[in-house]
Amino acid sequence: MDIDLKQFIREIPDFPKKGINFKDITPLLADAKAFAYAIDSLTESYISKKIDYVVCIEARGFVVGAPIAYRLGAGVIMVRKPGKLPYECSSLSYDLEYGSATLEIHKDALKAGDRVIIADDVLATGGTALATIGLAESFGAEVVDTCFLAELSFLKGAEKLKPHTVNALMKFDY
Ligand code: AMP
Repeated sequence: MDIDLKQFIREIPDFPKKGINFKDITPLLADAKAFAYAIDSLTESYISKKIDYVVCIEARGFVVGAPIAYRLGAGVIMVRKPGKLPYECSSLSYDLEYGSATLEIHKDALKAGDRVIIADDVLATGGTALATIGLAESFGAEVVDTCFLAELSFLKGAEKLKPHTVNALMKFDY
């Protein structure tokens, strides 16, 4: 049975700042059938792909990536904002529209040859996912795919991630 997932996305205009049309995924998470359908749909693509780890981006990416990892029999790796991870970290800074941001990963999180997918809730400009790919590849891990509940296609994040591929359950062009 197919479920129209878009009906579970709530649009919040001007959040967290003016001009951003925020895609609120909490109604999708709260609906047991929609959430299970979304996780199963994303997981399906990776069943025979021998994925070792799902690299999950703070914080909504944890909610998307962890159940996919569980289903795949893969591990969960957390990528977090600075100062949140307790052990020694590798970090990577990247440019935002205004200013810059940094992401961290434990320095022993991955090793060369690990096959990973990256998970987050929404692909917007792609800056965050690209930095996460950079962190994973700094270990010599192979980024097999990136996956999202939704892609804001008008922001061209998928272009930025090339040649890496994007698996998004919903596409929004607004
Ligand atoms: P990006 O521009 O792709 O680096 O997006 C950065 C992060 O912000 C991602 O983890 C998304 O979860 C979140 N994000 C950006 N824009 C939106 C939006 N319009 N609605 C919901 N989440 C967003």
